[in-house]
Amino acid sequence: MKKTLLCNEVLENLSCYVDGDGSAELRQAITQHMARCRRCRVILDTTQRTLKLVADVDPFEVPLAVSARLYTRIERVLSEDFPTEGLTGA
Ligand SMILES: [Zn+2]
Repeated sequence: MKKTLLCNEVLENLSCYVDGDGSAELRQAITQHMARCRRCRVILDTTQRTLKLVADVDPFEVPLAVSARLYTRIERVLSEDFPTEGLTGA
């Protein structure tokens, strides 16, 4: 039985995923979502780097605690593909 995850569902389970917890089915569903969703791949990559930096912190709380900062960084990463320099005449 295949389950399609939404982005927020992936994010909710991201801590399990990076910890190696959760069911094989869940992990596979997340992996499949990552294959299609660049935004979630960026979040995963950033989260894994963050977890390495804060390994002593309860990993379950990290993704939620840093999610706002992650999104800020993601928007920056994504915007780098579409430079807007020169578009504004301010
Ligand atoms: Zn996604």
